[in-house]
Amino acid sequence: MKYEAVIGLEVHAQLLTDSKIFCGCSTTFGAEPNSQTCPVCLGMPGVLPVLNERAVEFAIKMGLATHCKIAPFSRFARKNYFYPDLPKGYQISQYELPLCSDGYVDIELEDGTRKRIGIIRIHLEEDAGKSIHDPVLAGEDTLVDLNRCGVPLIEIVSAPDLRSPQEAYAYLVRLKQLVTYLGICDGNMEEGSLRCDANVSVRPVGSTEFGVKTEVKNMNSFRNVERALTFEINRQIQLLESGGEVVQETLLWDAHAGEARPMRSKEEAHDYRYFPEPDLVPMVIEESWVQKIRESLPELPLARKERFMEQYKLPAYDAGILTMTRELADYYEAVVTECRDYKLASNWVMGEVLRVLNERKIEITEFPISAQQLARLLNLILDETISSKIAKTVYEEMLNTGEDPAKIVEKKGLAQVTDRATIEAIVVKVLEENPKQVEQYRSGKEKVFGYFVGQVMRATRGKANPGLVNEILKEKLRE
Ligand code: ADP
Ligand code: ZN
Ligand code: MG
Repeated sequence: MKYEAVIGLEVHAQLLTDSKIFCGCSTTFGAEPNSQTCPVCLGMPGVLPVLNERAVEFAIKMGLATHCKIAPFSRFARKNYFYPDLPKGYQISQYELPLCSDGYVDIELEDGTRKRIGIIRIHLEEDAGKSIHDPVLAGEDTLVDLNRCGVPLIEIVSAPDLRSPQEAYAYLVRLKQLVTYLGICDGNMEEGSLRCDANVSVRPVGSTEFGVKTEVKNMNSFRNVERALTFEINRQIQLLESGGEVVQETLLWDAHAGEARPMRSKEEAHDYRYFPEPDLVPMVIEESWVQKIRESLPELPLARKERFMEQYKLPAYDAGILTMTRELADYYEAVVTECRDYKLASNWVMGEVLRVLNERKIEITEFPISAQQLARLLNLILDETISSKIAKTVYEEMLNTGEDPAKIVEKKGLAQVTDRATIEAIVVKVLEENPKQVEQYRSGKEKVFGYFVGQVMRATRGKANPGLVNEILKEKLRE
């Protein structure tokens, strides 16, 4: 029997507001433990939450970017459970009436095709604190840091539309791209600002019913989500093949061991006893506000990719890479406002620029060469002041010194030799010094032509204009 996987993801994204969702405490990451707390986020008796308007705005942005309906009337709910990092004994979340629902995200698969993934809902909630089990910090004890208590989150719940770990990966890439384009979340999975729980089941190909699902937690990178899903899908298939049954349970992914282990079974599942949050009035969202937010949305990744293909005549591959992040797309567009060869600019940004970002593990915003400087370098190639090969040397120098390309070319004497007479003299000399090769060439062994080009280039330290060298060589060899 052949099986297919059914996957639905629940993604939590920390919103980039300055203050928490129900109090004025700062949300800055990495502060001294418990320094960003107050009676509200510590859950003291008698305090009242006050909703952060910016958090609602951010959630609506994501709702609009994913084609969701924005509820004119929604409500917060208490999700009750006890845990040391949750001082109130409940989390304020949303339950029956989420802010956003019924949307979709288009993902792109490896073969270039697109697939639409449903979004069931996006709701707002508060984050919990963090328990610290690190033996170096806590010894045998457990410490708690409540700075994260009350940091605003959105939870994005996908429909069970994903069919493979690769699709799940592509979906996560798209979500991260959306939240970072919107500027509502930094998308950093390692720091926990983007977190993913994966629901997965398998079923015989052709079946229209869903199988029993398990939920895998604790994956801190997109690759780990992919790996964990692959592991869990195989486990379920093997189980079914050997006559067993999948039981509904929650599993924890262990990246080191490369396996997912049971954390709790259905019987141990929490009953959260949701009920409407009595300390907050329902949220009433006016259409005029939604409209204002809609108008403020930036151009989103897929639209920008399509525009790049259209406006700059780039292949889909280039446009996809260049629009991967908003900042990279901005950089490229700044280059091409001053350099009219769009494809040359694309090759350089995708090649040389991304290579250095990877090597140095930096972001485009930290890249030492400005878009204007890069454009000037490319223009030196286009007006034939330097060859593409010499441009690489100039580029390295720009990286190291931050100097302007024209200045480097001048200082190091790298300008291309385009003077006919100069090149002609060198060509004549090279031919004189290599009578045997000339003989070979003239008797039909045309491959030695490359040898002559190499010799002329060597004599000019790579600076001779390659077009001219070819032309003059052909001329002289014909004589
Ligand atoms: P629960 O009540 O267990 O939380 P939900 O219906 O709220 O389940 O769905 C949670 C997530 O699980 C959603 O992302 C949904 O797409 C996914 N999901 C639901 N049923 C299945 C299934 N049979 N296989 C895989 N994923 C599923
Ligand atoms: Zn607070
Ligand atoms: Mg659920």
